[in-house]
Amino acid sequence: MYPKIWLSPPHMGGGEINYIQQAFNSNWIAPIGDNIDDFESDLASFLDTKKEVVCLSSGTAAIHLALLLAGVKPGDEVICQSLTFVASAFPINYIGAKPLFVDSEPQTWGMCPEYLEFAIKERINKGKKPKAIIYVHVLGMPAKVYQIKAIASKYGINLIEDAAEALGSEYKGEKCGVFGDFSIFSFNGNKIITTSGGGALVCNNLQDKKKVIFLATQAKEINQEYHHECIGYNYRMSNVLAGIGRGQMEVIEDRINKRRENNLFYKEMFVNTDLINLFTDDFNENIKSNHWLNCITISKKAKFNNKDIFNALKEKNIESRSLWKPIHMQPVYKNSKFYGETVSTNLFETALCLPSGSNLTNKDKERIASVLNKFIQ
Ligand SMILES: *Cc1c(COP(=O)(O)O)cnc(C)c1O
Repeated sequence: MYPKIWLSPPHMGGGEINYIQQAFNSNWIAPIGDNIDDFESDLASFLDTKKEVVCLSSGTAAIHLALLLAGVKPGDEVICQSLTFVASAFPINYIGAKPLFVDSEPQTWGMCPEYLEFAIKERINKGKKPKAIIYVHVLGMPAKVYQIKAIASKYGINLIEDAAEALGSEYKGEKCGVFGDFSIFSFNGNKIITTSGGGALVCNNLQDKKKVIFLATQAKEINQEYHHECIGYNYRMSNVLAGIGRGQMEVIEDRINKRRENNLFYKEMFVNTDLINLFTDDFNENIKSNHWLNCITISKKAKFNNKDIFNALKEKNIESRSLWKPIHMQPVYKNSKFYGETVSTNLFETALCLPSGSNLTNKDKERIASVLNKFIQ
């Protein structure tokens, strides 16, 4: 059997181990130390922003703290994109707030601005203005950022940008991750760079950063030992894992280029068929996706579907994965409101994500092509 080709495995650059060694040498084996400070400033300079970056234990923790800083309280309503990994929505429930889900639009697969505004107006008419909006750059594809931002500011609602998959993606020359009142990244093992597990929150100023660190380190009051005036969390990133992040930042440009090359590889493969469509960023010159994951949709006219391709790849020990089941269809959220039509459910039914790692070799690509070509002829 050929070795397994994974969907999006970790890809170490080699330098990571030196930063881990530094943590050991200095004995900062703790959620404090130079690697954390330096990883945060590496990220801020990569994003080319004056905003502040805080490294945390996960992207999910970053969303939770973003909601808290946005002032979301138990019983409040928060609007969330339906087509996303469920981690975008779970933190709304950690707070005891109520999620309302909004459909995607067909071009970027991100939150539909029209349904977003429709939902806000409807809730305001019911006397309940939403407290925050969480939107997502799906698989790294920048959403309709300016339209979503304009709606959030028109109604004075805090905007949380879930850029977990979009490190290195760009909208009108600016990097994703600077387009929210709060923005978040994930460094989970399958993301474009990884710290094995981890995340970051980008906020507007130092005051917010201090609040985030305070909440992420058990809400310790500064001048009084073991004196607490509010509920805290244990969400800070480990200094050992931040060392992995620093090493990954040395190679991030290469990682993004490789992912984008993978997209061109698939694009060429599917150029002459209209039964299989590749999700790609060439519909708008203002946006640049990092193409974290490559995803195809299968036309309903085809004699095969996404499950057939999944099975054919699996038979050759190649991992592929369907898109998420939209959150408004999840049993755990069956009582939540949904604003939209069938964009996200259609994508769920027809899409398949293909191997997209930055360490995909030419030999891997040949194996993938030999399976996929059978569906093209
Ligand atoms: C990975 C991911 C998260 C969660 O990040 P973790 O670091 O795994 O907690 C949130 N939102 C999206 C869109 C993701 O892809």
